[in-house]
Amino acid sequence: MAAVSMDESDLDVIIIGAGVGGLYAIHKLRQQGLKIRAYEAGDGVGGTWFWNRYPGCRCDVESMEYSYSFDDDLQQEWKWPERYGTQPEILRYINHVAERFDLLRDVQLSTRIKTARFDSKTNLWTITTEQGEAVSAPYCIMATGNLSTPRFPQIEGIDDFEGEKYHTGLWPKEGVDFSGKIVGVIGTGSSGVQSIPLIAKQAKHLYVFQRTANFSLPARNAPLDPEKERKHKEEYVERRKAAYSTPFGIAGYPPPDKRAAEAEAEERRANYEAKWAEGGSISFLFAYKDLLLNKEANDTASDFVREKIRATVKDPITAELLCPNDHPIGTKRLILDTDYYETYNRDNVTLVDIRSNPIEQFTATGLQLTDGSAYDVDAISFATGFDAMTGAMRDIDINTDQGNNIRDKWEDGPRSYLGIMVAGFPNMFMITGPQSPGVKSQMIMACEWHVDFAANAIAHMRKNGLSRMEPEVSAENGWVTHNNEVADSTLYPLANSWYMGANIPGKPRIFMPYVGGVEAYTNKCNDVVANGYEGFSLA
Ligand code: NAP
Repeated sequence: MAAVSMDESDLDVIIIGAGVGGLYAIHKLRQQGLKIRAYEAGDGVGGTWFWNRYPGCRCDVESMEYSYSFDDDLQQEWKWPERYGTQPEILRYINHVAERFDLLRDVQLSTRIKTARFDSKTNLWTITTEQGEAVSAPYCIMATGNLSTPRFPQIEGIDDFEGEKYHTGLWPKEGVDFSGKIVGVIGTGSSGVQSIPLIAKQAKHLYVFQRTANFSLPARNAPLDPEKERKHKEEYVERRKAAYSTPFGIAGYPPPDKRAAEAEAEERRANYEAKWAEGGSISFLFAYKDLLLNKEANDTASDFVREKIRATVKDPITAELLCPNDHPIGTKRLILDTDYYETYNRDNVTLVDIRSNPIEQFTATGLQLTDGSAYDVDAISFATGFDAMTGAMRDIDINTDQGNNIRDKWEDGPRSYLGIMVAGFPNMFMITGPQSPGVKSQMIMACEWHVDFAANAIAHMRKNGLSRMEPEVSAENGWVTHNNEVADSTLYPLANSWYMGANIPGKPRIFMPYVGGVEAYTNKCNDVVANGYEGFSLA
């Protein structure tokens, strides 16, 4: 039995994870005079941006938006070099924030949490680490991330492969030199699509093993225009505020007022062309108001992008394989790329269709497909994604002395109230948990929203001498039902996406993010608080 380390025994809040959400939680809660400790599995802070160091890794939200809003001096002083931040730039920014606000002194690095247990007699959470340390505090914040549990495919012989093996979500810090090597990339989601053009430039030959084609739009990345930056900074405070009244939590994109069918074919085409030239996904999805609601409307946008793919990729068979045809555009995370489709015109790049001819097994030297054909490679990059949204919390044995366990509770899909708390698990707050708009919005502001909610709830409890807070089961049930109804009124559930848990064999197929929009969500949260934490039981 692990001992409680004495110097930590008077902690108020345990935070699990020191990514964007965990770091801001340290800052916010410290301002309330609370004693906090954050535990982080990595040997540095930054979460997603610490782990995903693959070539080409870049945020798909513009850098002036993808940053903290809690400190005006910070947002005025930081200079982003490009329209979209690269992984090294974003990690540099996060480390700057950690230093600037002296956050690291409350972070214990290289510490993975194994269990978290709530005791109803003492109202304390006790966590244990893989090293055997145990620490207790009244509140526990799960800042464990949505895309933080990398998954390798379950294919026979994967351990027999004797070449180099990488996962985009666990990329080596020192980088990888593929020069002169034959490389295989498995997976064509955002991580695959971003890394493929850069690996292709280095490798002797690149085989891309594609099971499902995805829609990707040009990012049109460029150095940040100084005039745009000046104007953005001038309006920063108002823009951040306005972001909460938008569907995706990003201001500056006027919502469309027309349905696709209300435009003539030529007008529609010109509209899509303009959005294609502008780059970025929100602008494209805002072409018409029913693109994510009506299949015929969506077809007009999907057809446009398929045409672009055919016009870019010279080999017609490769072009056809790259045309997505199993989901409406936007129902999977829309990818932003730089020269993705153009890369297939290189002589050293081959697209291998593993939908019609799946991988049978890995061998010592490469992989073998079902028809017996074999590909010998020096290195494989697995861009095969994550056990998204619930994976990180389910990897921790989260339980209570009342017999509740998060793995059992979420066996048929996640259940939460507002994506913030879970009935049966008192005083445990989630940062951008399932059934919140987190991944469907600007993640840093979503983290700030949830941290602020948790911090205010803790302050409310302390002020009123309350020691326990959790959702009422009826409120949680209502929120789950509402989530499902909203998702079912859209085209999202038509895609086999990680939003649906469909990328993990055996995972329940439930649409996990809240897609009613950031405005509706934050209004709901504000109403809940204004009505005395309606739907929560406080004791
Ligand atoms: P992903 O979108 O889940 O893509 C995983 C890819 O691996 C898919 O093409 C999938 O094919 C393939 N795959 C998985 N298991 C396989 C198997 N057994 N055999 C063959 N292929 C297999 O993962 P991701 O690309 O890492 O991206 C995840 C999310 O992270 C993104 O959607 C995005 O939200 C975030 N992200 C963002 C950025 C950015 O901001 N720019 C960059 C990277 C990631 P199937 O589709 O057939 O399953």
